Amino acid sequence: MINYIDNHTDSQKSYKAIFAYIIKKGKTTRREIQKQTNYSWSSVSSVVSALINKKQVIETESFNTGVGRGTSYIMPNGDKFVSIGVDINSVGYSATVIGIDGTSKFASELPFEEKAKEQVIEKIFKIIDECIEYVNENNFTLVSIGISCQGRIDSTHSYFENFFFVEDFKHLNLKKIVEDKYNIYVYVEHDTNCLLEAYQFQHAENDESVCVARVVSGIGFAICINGYSIEDFGSIDFGHMTVQPLNGELCSCGLRGCLEAYSSTVGIAKRANVKDFQEIDNNREKYRKYLDEAAFYLGVTFNNIRRIFSIQKLIITGNVINNDQKMLDKIIDTDTSISASGVCKIKYIHDLSASFGAARLSLIDKVGTGNSL
Ligand SMILES: [Zn+2]
Repeated sequence: MINYIDNHTDSQKSYKAIFAYIIKKGKTTRREIQKQTNYSWSSVSSVVSALINKKQVIETESFNTGVGRGTSYIMPNGDKFVSIGVDINSVGYSATVIGIDGTSKFASELPFEEKAKEQVIEKIFKIIDECIEYVNENNFTLVSIGISCQGRIDSTHSYFENFFFVEDFKHLNLKKIVEDKYNIYVYVEHDTNCLLEAYQFQHAENDESVCVARVVSGIGFAICINGYSIEDFGSIDFGHMTVQPLNGELCSCGLRGCLEAYSSTVGIAKRANVKDFQEIDNNREKYRKYLDEAAFYLGVTFNNIRRIFSIQKLIITGNVINNDQKMLDKIIDTDTSISASGVCKIKYIHDLSASFGAARLSLIDKVGTGNSL
């Protein structure tokens, strides 16, 4: 634990805590804010009034509950303030502009074809520029930029250890590079944590225990237990869990028998002896044997994860599954054949967006670290 002197006054602290709660919750009431933040009713009322005056939050019309005064909802003002999210992965770049209330307003995509660090950074700037043009045309106020990425990231220090697909894209502070260019608050996070945030905002019930897996050229995981995320060095590295200890397939990490060697796009293509996964995706029946194997090892891994962490829901996204019901059935069958104990729903979500989650997390991080909008 780092000790530091907090120079905020009490009113600044309550402002920050209450606003951070509203942003996180999306839609709430004064009563709920008071209960969850432990501030007094008068503090909550005066902070919410100040937020409404600054147009940082809006209040919906009261509805009458039939007894006494009606209740109104407090929501972040997505008609004025927006955040940009950018996702970088081996397939492409995608960007989203979202209101701070979570409404999606604009989206853009660019293919990934870069071979060097400078080119990647240039492409990041290009897609952010498109978003900023939209923000300016519509007179929104840009609050923050979130960047989601595969690879090894320390989001606490915005330190980027490496991105496996570009040799020299490593040991760099992406936050500083983007902040120097745009002078806007930037937050960098591992893609699966962004997907978890997107899932929690768009689909989750309160306090559930959920695991999100992105099965693409790598396999990343993010876990949330009873509403609290588990954070490792950017991600939870089950992609290199040993699933075949006896003479296993060689993995990109140098070890043998890892999950990624069997179930990632790179691993499947290598085993099927084809140029890339696209060839398999275009003719899934021809390569069913390899997809079945990939699904089997995913099922084994998911079963271990859900039993170790008491997970209630396992959400899969990524182009390995790509709406392939046979693969999903194989994953579920494998999981239940190992152990059906405990209840865990395994579900595929095609359009879970890492850029959406990155935008949300950048906003939460900015407000949560004491910055005003
Ligand atoms: Zn490995």
